[in-house]
Amino acid sequence: MHELSIAMSIVDAALEEAQRRGIQVSAVHLRLGALSGVVKDALLFSYEVACQDTPLQGSQLIVEDVPVIVFCLQCQKEQLLQSVQLFACPECGAPTMNVRQGKELEVFALEVKEEEVRR
Ligand SMILES: [Zn+2]
Repeated sequence: MHELSIAMSIVDAALEEAQRRGIQVSAVHLRLGALSGVVKDALLFSYEVACQDTPLQGSQLIVEDVPVIVFCLQCQKEQLLQSVQLFACPECGAPTMNVRQGKELEVFALEVKEEEVRR
């Protein structure tokens, strides 16, 4: 599964960072673009699987959805895409493939545990 390998790389990166800073991670914040090609639910499930038997077990993956922003040549400005099914400017209807935002798949924050909780 595509999402599992992504989840594993997220977990790997978080573990490395946690080790480097000597912290316990309670949650990982991820920015996920609508065009990233990743299914959010599958990723959330895969994250839990990837965390098993690691220090991240029991931590949470918090996904922030990033909408698609395109640049419309007609309007000469950035526009929020209404649907990923239709690559057209919401204002003038001109087709556009000039994507400025929406392909993100990046960890942008780690939440740190205040105190270590073992179960
Ligand atoms: Zn336009």
